[in-house]
Amino acid sequence: VAKRLDKFKTTIFTQMSMLAVKHGAINLGQGFPNFDGPDFVKEAAIQAIRDGKNQYARGCGVPDLNSAIVDRFHKDTGLHIDPEKEVTVTSGCTEAIAATMLGLINPGDEVILFAPFYDSYEATLSMADAKIKVITLRPPDFAVSVDELKSAVSKNTRAILINTPHNPTGKMFTRAELEQIASLCIENDVLVFADEVYDKLAFEAEHISIASLPGMYERTVTMNSLGKTFSLTGWKIGWAIAPPHLTWGLRQAHSFLTFSTSTPMQWAASVALRAPDTYYEELKRDYLAKKAILVEGLKAAGFIVYPSSGTYFVMVDHTPFGCENDIDFCEYLIKEVGVVAIPTSVFYLNPEEGKNLVRFTFCKDEETLRAAVERMKERL
Ligand code: GLN
Repeated sequence: VAKRLDKFKTTIFTQMSMLAVKHGAINLGQGFPNFDGPDFVKEAAIQAIRDGKNQYARGCGVPDLNSAIVDRFHKDTGLHIDPEKEVTVTSGCTEAIAATMLGLINPGDEVILFAPFYDSYEATLSMADAKIKVITLRPPDFAVSVDELKSAVSKNTRAILINTPHNPTGKMFTRAELEQIASLCIENDVLVFADEVYDKLAFEAEHISIASLPGMYERTVTMNSLGKTFSLTGWKIGWAIAPPHLTWGLRQAHSFLTFSTSTPMQWAASVALRAPDTYYEELKRDYLAKKAILVEGLKAAGFIVYPSSGTYFVMVDHTPFGCENDIDFCEYLIKEVGVVAIPTSVFYLNPEEGKNLVRFTFCKDEETLRAAVERMKERL
C-alpha cells in the first residue's frame, strides 16, 4: 500500500460490522438503517431506469437534481445560488469530501479538524499531503475552545473542517461557536469545509449552515447527501455547494475521481429532495422515539450517557464497567453481551483521548433497539 495510506486500517465501521455478523450480535455500530427508504423515492429510481435514464450523467449532476439541491438549500439557508456553477453532485458525501480535499488543498497546507473526527477526513487529507492540526472536543458538552482554535490558526492554515450535527458525538455547533469560527476564518482568509449530512436529524437545536453567516458563503464548501435523511445509505448520492472559484477546484478532482454519479439514482434523488415538510417532520418524530429507547436503555444499563442534540448517534462513557479501554470494552460487549458499538479512539490522532468513549447508533427499528437494550441491562 502507498505510504500515504499505510497507517490506515480497514475502516472501523467495516471491522465492527464484520464482527457483528461473525458473533450474531445486534449491530448498533455502523450507521446504516436496518429499515428501508421511502417508496416514493424507490419508485422514482425504478421509473428512471425504465425511462432509459441509464447513460453517463452530466459530470456536475443531472440538471433536475442540481436545481432540487438549490431549492432545498434556499429553503434551509435563505441563500440563492446557481445550480450550474455552484453545485456538484458526487458519489456520496464521502466523495465530496475527497474531491474537496484533493481539489482545494496543496501539499503542506494546514487543515484544522475537531476530534473526534470522521475517519475519511484524515485519510483524504493524507492523500492530499496536507498537514493536520487537531482540536479536541471534550465531554460532556464537546464545546469548542476558541482560544485553542485561535492558537491553531497560522499563516499556512487553508481550511477548518466542521461537521454539524457531529459524528460521533451528536454535538451541534452553536451559533456562537460558528460565529467565532467565521470571524476567525474571515480575519485569516481561511476556508470552511462543512459536512452537514445529518442536518435533518437535528433534535435539540436548530441546524445552522455556516455558509449562511455573513461573509461566509464565498469561503465555504457545504457538503451533504441523501443517505441519512432518506435511509438510503447504499445509493451514494451526495453533493458539494460552493462559490464558483471553489467549485472549480473540487470539480477538477471529481472529474477524475468518478467523473459522474449514477444517473437513475440522481433522478430519484431529485424527487426525494422535493419531499414535503411532513416527510422531514415524520422522520424526526420516528428518530426521537428510537433515540429515547436507546438513551433510556443505556442509562438503565449503567453507562454515563452524553447528551446528543443531532445525528443518529449517542456517545457514552463505558468506564463504569471496568474495562481498560474502548477497544477492550467493545470486544467484551460483542462477545459477552451480543451488541456491537463503535470504539472511538480511532477518531482521534491521539487514541488515548478516546479510550473511555464508545458510540452507539439508533438508526435501527424499535424492536432491534429494545432487544439490544435488554441484553445490555441483563448482561453488563
Ligand atoms: N457514516 C457511517 C458511520 O459513521 C459509516 C460509513 C462507513 O462505513 N464508511 O457509522
